[in-house]
Amino acid sequence: MSEHSNLLQPAINAVADACKVTRAVQSKLDDIKQATKDDRSPVTVADYAAQAIVAAQLNQAFGNLMLVGEEDAGDLREDNAAALRDAVVESSRSVWPEASEAAVLDAIDLGNHDGSASAYWTLDPIDGTKGFLRGGQYAVSLAYIVNGIVEIGVLGCPNLSADFDRVFDSPDAAGTLYHATRAGGAWSRPLTNIAESPTQVATSSTATTETMRVCESVEAAHSRLDDTARIVERLGARGTPARLDSQCKYAVVARGQADAYLRLPTRADYVEKIWDHAAGMIIAQEAGAIVTDVHGNSLDFSHGALLIQNKGVICAAESIHGEILQAIQDLGLFKL
Ligand code: AMP
Ligand code: MG
Repeated sequence: MSEHSNLLQPAINAVADACKVTRAVQSKLDDIKQATKDDRSPVTVADYAAQAIVAAQLNQAFGNLMLVGEEDAGDLREDNAAALRDAVVESSRSVWPEASEAAVLDAIDLGNHDGSASAYWTLDPIDGTKGFLRGGQYAVSLAYIVNGIVEIGVLGCPNLSADFDRVFDSPDAAGTLYHATRAGGAWSRPLTNIAESPTQVATSSTATTETMRVCESVEAAHSRLDDTARIVERLGARGTPARLDSQCKYAVVARGQADAYLRLPTRADYVEKIWDHAAGMIIAQEAGAIVTDVHGNSLDFSHGALLIQNKGVICAAESIHGEILQAIQDLGLFKL
């Protein structure tokens, strides 16, 4: 048992509850968009409410919460944000019935830690906002980092089927929750029934570069899709890459449904955020995949909220990871 294992169950409960909220908001996307005349407001409501739920539950369980969250309540506290604030509080109350407005706002602001403590949590309350708005894949992503090492990852994937053969882009009634602890393996269970015993997840991938199945972002702004195509062609892979939003890509590699997740830098100046990778990375690693950046360096979580030492991500089965890095070099991509 890891010395951090007492943190796991409250983290799982918090993510599962946050997913109930995001799922409820996603089920009434069109109503919210129409009521607010704002296409992005559903994701804003769900982002804030999910962060409030996770932060409040972790703080209640352990006290003195150190959380690097993607959101803070600054904008929500503005006088002109009353309608949005009400919607966030109402959404939060579906799993936190006694929550006051002040308690919800204060819980969101618990996510203000900068990552300078030796041990802290990091949360992306809705990773893959574009997927969320499309009715597609997104994830609630929570990780615990100690001295720059990711020790725990919990990933709620409300629209990712427990059936590993099912296509990614059709939302699922149950969804899947993944968790991993360092050296403790990666595990999954249905998100709607977290009392169920988890099953271990392992890639079992023996893919070769010809047979490998690749996945990548839907958004061309987040990953060089043309460079993925060049790498795939150079390695002689036959299939076309699957595209899905969020850290569900790490889960899909962890469960052996894809053999590689390529995230290829679109801009020299973009720096990846820890909450976009910590939980997904440990789940993929514990399932047997290798995770590095495009230069082959480990992701370095010892610099606060940003992965300043890294560019992009290559998450792949052990059998092909090195060959993907080699193809990147041979093609002269992403030179330092
Ligand atoms: P994905 O769903 O994999 O496309 O990734 C979603 C995440 O991409 C969001 O959480 C953003 O933080 C992140 N993101 C935003 N801009 C960029 C960019 N230029 N390059 C890489 N990732 C980005
Ligand atoms: Mg994100």
